Amino acid sequence: MKDTIVAEFKKRFGGVPSVYSSAGRINLIGEHTDYNGGFVFPGAIDKVIMAAVRPNGTELVRVYSMDLEEYVEFGLNEEDAPSQLWASYIFGVCREIIKSGGTVKGFDAVFAGNIPLGAGLSSSAALESCFAFALNDLYNDNRIPKFELAKIGQMTEHNYCGVNCGIMDQFASVMGQAGKLIRLDCRSLDFEYYPFAPEDYELILLDSRVKHELADSPYNRRRESCERVARRLGVDTLRDATMEMLESMKDEISTEDYSRAKFVIEEKERVLAVCDALMAGDYDTVGRKMYETHRGLSKDYEVSCEELDFLNDVARECGVTGSRIMGGGFGGCTINLVRKDLRDDFIRTARTRFRERFGHDPEVYPVVISDGARKVV
Ligand code: ADP
Ligand code: MG
Repeated sequence: MKDTIVAEFKKRFGGVPSVYSSAGRINLIGEHTDYNGGFVFPGAIDKVIMAAVRPNGTELVRVYSMDLEEYVEFGLNEEDAPSQLWASYIFGVCREIIKSGGTVKGFDAVFAGNIPLGAGLSSSAALESCFAFALNDLYNDNRIPKFELAKIGQMTEHNYCGVNCGIMDQFASVMGQAGKLIRLDCRSLDFEYYPFAPEDYELILLDSRVKHELADSPYNRRRESCERVARRLGVDTLRDATMEMLESMKDEISTEDYSRAKFVIEEKERVLAVCDALMAGDYDTVGRKMYETHRGLSKDYEVSCEELDFLNDVARECGVTGSRIMGGGFGGCTINLVRKDLRDDFIRTARTRFRERFGHDPEVYPVVISDGARKVV
């Protein structure tokens, strides 16, 4: 990818650019926990956005997207916002760096990627992180701490792309390291790396390629349930609630609110259990917890759908070690922890059976936990 991007850069702009890259991400476990002050457990993957970037001595940014075959120019003031969505991710990063007191001047860039767009692997976070990392290196002597780069990406989504996201995606994209997952405490923003480089297992994502409901309203309803229960229990967020507390309140809240809160409280415990299991190299336990999460998301949190439950069932029948919905639900991917000797059989079976049932193939993405944002050359 690097050579193609650099060749395109030289053809369009001339000169020798620096090359930066940042990654998409998976989340092994810890779903719907972020807004409840709990833990998430993401890692960067071997699918990236890569950009060739070079200051051009003007106040103008000139960018070519190789994948979309589109060229855009924009200035660096608030009123210069480009109309193309992909360019507003880059514009937003520039603006957020400037607003936080950093420096950005005009530059030329060519970029491309191999993260599927909109599949739940956070191609947008990779795009933001790649440019945030590049501009920190080129204009700010890398003075902006890495965590701030992640926040710049998050603020870009909020302020320039209309996506009110949490910090996990950008955090994983920026901070990811090969062979390690990162447990992020969404309450304190403390984080810790855990080894994840299994010799005998692979991570395989199966993308159902369906999206059922407008993500917003069921998501907001779930959030409201959690907040309502937290208020009743007298805690800031469900992070501070236990199952005992919830049980003692069971008769006073709706069964729906009870189920939602139960999932969140159990999910918090599952993340911690998975971290312990990884330290012990116990992938069977990791996998069992993933199945428990799927069940909770499906039965208690009720954010699954026929296609995702089907993929989860196929995984179980194929003897896959762990499998669950990844992301908010109502469509998207399952993430599967698969023993290498079962891999081919699992992929073939899942493809065939899914197609028979739903009329189209799921997309298959094998991923390896890899480095996040970095300078390539
Ligand atoms: P995801 O779950 O992949 O982050 P989003 O909808 O949040 O999905 O972000 C996808 C958007 O990010 C695309 O519509 C596009 O604007 C931008 N994007 C991602 N990857 C690329 C790429 N390789 N080239 C151009 N734009 C990209
Ligand atoms: Mg995104």
